[in-house]
Amino acid sequence: ASAPIGSSVIPIVNKLQDIFAQLGSQSTIELPQVAVVGSQSSGKSSVLEALVGRDFLPRGNDICTRRPLVLQLLQTTKKPDGTGEEYGEFLHLPGKRFYDFSEIRREIQAETDREAGGNKGVSDKQIRLKIFSPSVLDITLVDLPGITKVPVGDQPSDIEARIRTMIMSYIKTPSCLILAVTPANSDLANSDALQMAGIADPDGNRTIGVITKLDIMDRGTDARKLLLGEVIPLRLGYVGVVNRSQEDILLNRSIRDAIEAERKFFDSRPVYSTLKDRCGVPQLAQKLNQILVQHIKAVLPGLKARINAALTSVAKQFQNYGEVTESKAGQGALLLNILSKYSEAFSSMVEGKNEEMSTL
Ligand code: GDP
Ligand code: MG
Repeated sequence: ASAPIGSSVIPIVNKLQDIFAQLGSQSTIELPQVAVVGSQSSGKSSVLEALVGRDFLPRGNDICTRRPLVLQLLQTTKKPDGTGEEYGEFLHLPGKRFYDFSEIRREIQAETDREAGGNKGVSDKQIRLKIFSPSVLDITLVDLPGITKVPVGDQPSDIEARIRTMIMSYIKTPSCLILAVTPANSDLANSDALQMAGIADPDGNRTIGVITKLDIMDRGTDARKLLLGEVIPLRLGYVGVVNRSQEDILLNRSIRDAIEAERKFFDSRPVYSTLKDRCGVPQLAQKLNQILVQHIKAVLPGLKARINAALTSVAKQFQNYGEVTESKAGQGALLLNILSKYSEAFSSMVEGKNEEMSTL
């Protein structure tokens, strides 16, 4: 299977969280949220699912995602034999652990119906799901309803405006990474995803373009120009992916098989042979990792300053206590000293990590 999202930054983030736990501080590293935007059926849920590496989101060629799903991934510790529990828990069903991921999907559907009705209604009330697993990074992903233009079923006449407002409330947050999803078989210039991302993030500092459905483009066309940013340039660039088709979903094709099929697809198309760095879900995960590393690098100096300030204040207290070395303040100073050394070691660790990545 593909490396799960964030796997290469897990060790760094873990060490940092350890430091903060020892410091007794709340100020852990807050990783950016990742939200998907795009038109209905562009493949948003499929992309998120592939990134997480588990089957659990409702997908289909109709309106499936009708409430925002806030998906919090939480890392659990591995047992000595390398295995670990993997389960989901909904905010609306506290204490109930879902070990079967297809049951998670059924519960998302049932809970969607409870709030938004069974007839294509849309609601901005979140569904909150935590996934506990030893192989994920503590990160929050948001699956959002897609933009639709014509009201169907129980949808109000202003459905488009409502969905746009809902999406905007997530992606306007400056720390939110935006996956702007556009299918390759539609015109990029008409992309709802890029249009909305452009409003929320005009400088393009936190928008990654994702082109789906490369497998069902018109004969004789390919996505080279899109992926190269020659149609609509995007600062962080584009990644092209092939997710499971509706037929694959009906046939219950596994995520593992889908990733393998995607790899074969790109390997067998000479037009993409020089664009390997921007083709496939594993490359998308890699790109997200790089952005997360950049983010950690950017927040490190602030964290270090905070540790140093705490160190100075404890050292002052320590002086006032005179010779009482057994005091809490004395122990605190010692601990902070160690921590600030630690945080320096991290800076270099992150730098090292980054060099490693840039040679890929
Ligand atoms: P969403 O509405 O944006 O969340 O889209 P979904 O993830 O639910 O996908 C909509 C439909 O498009 C489903 O039937 C998927 O199987 C199909 N689909 C998504 N991505 C791809 C792709 O890359 N290739 C093909 N052939 N079908 C895809
Ligand atoms: Mg969806």
